[in-house]
Amino acid sequence: MKYVVVTGGVMSGLGKGITTASIGRLLKNRGYRITAVKIDPYLNIDAGTMNPAQHGEVFVLDDGGEVDLDLGNYERFLDINLSSDHNITTGKVYQTVIERERRGDFLGGTVQIIPHITDEIKDSIARAAHKLLDGNHEADICLVEVGGTVGDIESMPFLEAVRQMHGELPRDDMVLVHVTLVPVDTMGDHKTKPTQHSVKALRELGLAPDIIVARSDCIISAATKKKITAFCDVPQRAVISAITAPDIYQVPMEMEKEGLADVVTEYLSLETREPDTEWYRVVSKEYTNRVTVGIVTKYGIEDVYISIKEALKHAGRSLSIEVDIRWFDAESFEPGDLAEVDGILVPGGFGKRGIEGKIRAIEYARTYKKPYLGLCLGFQLAVIEYSRNVLGWGDATSEEMGEGTHVIAILPEQEDVYMLGGTMRLGNWDITLKDGTLTRRLYGTPEIVERHRHRYEVNPKYIPDIEEAGLVFSANCGMRMEACEIDEHPFFLATQFHPEFKSRPTHPSPPYIGFVQACRTNRNSA
Ligand code: GLN
Repeated sequence: MKYVVVTGGVMSGLGKGITTASIGRLLKNRGYRITAVKIDPYLNIDAGTMNPAQHGEVFVLDDGGEVDLDLGNYERFLDINLSSDHNITTGKVYQTVIERERRGDFLGGTVQIIPHITDEIKDSIARAAHKLLDGNHEADICLVEVGGTVGDIESMPFLEAVRQMHGELPRDDMVLVHVTLVPVDTMGDHKTKPTQHSVKALRELGLAPDIIVARSDCIISAATKKKITAFCDVPQRAVISAITAPDIYQVPMEMEKEGLADVVTEYLSLETREPDTEWYRVVSKEYTNRVTVGIVTKYGIEDVYISIKEALKHAGRSLSIEVDIRWFDAESFEPGDLAEVDGILVPGGFGKRGIEGKIRAIEYARTYKKPYLGLCLGFQLAVIEYSRNVLGWGDATSEEMGEGTHVIAILPEQEDVYMLGGTMRLGNWDITLKDGTLTRRLYGTPEIVERHRHRYEVNPKYIPDIEEAGLVFSANCGMRMEACEIDEHPFFLATQFHPEFKSRPTHPSPPYIGFVQACRTNRNSA
């Protein structure tokens, strides 16, 4: 197992996750099997209890892990399925060590950050790295992204663990990549001082970078690279200039041009191989059409909906359709504003705020025959809208939202749940698709597996009435309704599951393909 460890300097938000995923892609293009670990130095056990408005989307894995959104980037770039073990947090590490202490595993000893916490960190990294990919083979290379910025108190034990690994492993089993910022001053000159300082901070922790990825607004000249080389002891070919690419999936190409893959393979003593270009073909497909999708949300923060944005992009790219997104604030938009978009999407969400607006958007989509894609809460609200406006049950609502006729009710197994962390209906569940439905046609198969994250469901009590009125439940998992659609509508599909979590540039998600295609048809006929 070889390791590519990625640290970040100067400030957060430099695109360390995309850099890590892109390095992985470059190596994968050369035929290596890649896995990836994200370290999040916070005390939460996982991202499931964190506010997405502060921390970005909670990404959901096959095994139900609620993890940092960077794992979504790894899955999309590397086309692999990761597990909860691939997201290591301070919370998980301390929990394990403290549980062992209580059991008496260290009896007589003083339990300390070094060696007990650092040993557990190293074990967690190794466990995740060696985990079989899709249950059948081990990776050749494991990417390890250390979250946070070098110098933060939070990340110290992790960097210490990396330092120890560096000493324990053969020299060519680990390469250290440091991502920094090279700002441009008012004269247009690149400034290397912040990079020098962050490398100095890393050195104080006993780590010296092998490669520096320098983020900047414009390409870094040879002279600037030379300066970084002089101050940071990194050869000039290992100083990689990384400007913001028009599309994240182009980043591997930019890094390829900068020779990043050659330096990584050289440091890891891997044989030089010609890269496969399939990825570039997929992500560079020309657009010949465009559509506008309206997303009705309560958070005006795009990072909360990153997987949805990416899934729309993947589906659009595969159809040569560029998807523009217009965001509508669920609490303030006028339904008439939706006339300008080619399709309407209501994403997942929790709590009451904004739901009446979302229901109005769904009513608009249904009655004006605009393509509609509803996801999780967007599925539950579609059932509520139908119950209110087609069945005439004016007080139809979800148990989550308060009093009324609960067409959406708490899942029976959730009734006694009082611990909130990691207790929803999560991850993969097998789903059966009904013959003759749009959902079945889109997937092209009667059985699918998709990822979930919810506590409420369509109330079984009301299913017969709702179906009788014309809403088609096109997918189910036993007694549980998983999708609905409307026959006489050009495209009205909503799912209890989250198909966006499995969408990849190389494997776009069927409901998204159908939706983007329908948006295109709707635009043509408008
Ligand atoms: N709040 C709803 C539930 O818990 C929907 C969840 C979601 O949209 N992810 O069932």
